[in-house]
Amino acid sequence: MNEQTLSMRLERVAAQVPVGARLADIGSDHGYLPVALTRRGVIVAAVAGEVAMTPFRSAERTVRENGLERWISVRLADGLAAIEPGDGITAVSLCGMGGETIRDILERDKSRLNGQERLILQPNGGEQPLRLWLVENGYRILCEEVLRENRFDYEVIVAERSGPVTYTAEELYFGPLLMQARSPAFLDKWQRRLRQKHKTLASFARARQAVPGEEVQDVARQIRWITDLLR
Ligand code: SAM
Repeated sequence: MNEQTLSMRLERVAAQVPVGARLADIGSDHGYLPVALTRRGVIVAAVAGEVAMTPFRSAERTVRENGLERWISVRLADGLAAIEPGDGITAVSLCGMGGETIRDILERDKSRLNGQERLILQPNGGEQPLRLWLVENGYRILCEEVLRENRFDYEVIVAERSGPVTYTAEELYFGPLLMQARSPAFLDKWQRRLRQKHKTLASFARARQAVPGEEVQDVARQIRWITDLLR
């Protein structure tokens, strides 16, 4: 992967960035996403935010080597603190982090969002707490996708602020649109998850120290939900 050839995961994220957007890519690492989208003429400006020095330098290098310093500002900052009022950001991407981390980044500095930005999120796990944050903050999920790459299942979740929305507990767990679409990648993912959950439950039964009843019931409930989904 590089700034010309994105991974399939980042290509699916890139496909959700509106033409003409001003993108803030938070946790940009190498900066491949904003650089690729600028090179392709999809976005007109970007901020690449990084909290850690090594990836920050890496993003700076990618931007410099592509001669895009006029269009992409690379900033060393924690989460949404990379966004400044004058940036006029219209889309925010947070990719390749745990869903809880993405949620915490959004929650910590949500006052920096003007509510008009499209959020393009690619959590590595923790999708349920992330969807819960979206609902609690008035975001509607516009698009969701599951894809498999290098033996990992990834989800892309796209949301925009729309006013009050409600989702059931199962919709927050599986994804409201994914549940409707039932794509082969989605069903394969949950087949695999079901096998893992059964193994987890069996390991609880074998454990030397009793596993708290709540934990056992939680896994048993997930197994029920997944089994119902796959019926
Ligand atoms: N977004 C890229 C992608 O999807 O390929 C890079 C993903 S990389 C696994 C996660 C990056 O997020 C790391 O470079 C890490 O330093 C950065 N990160 C984690 N927490 C952050 C935060 N609070 N603010 C900014 N960057 C953060």
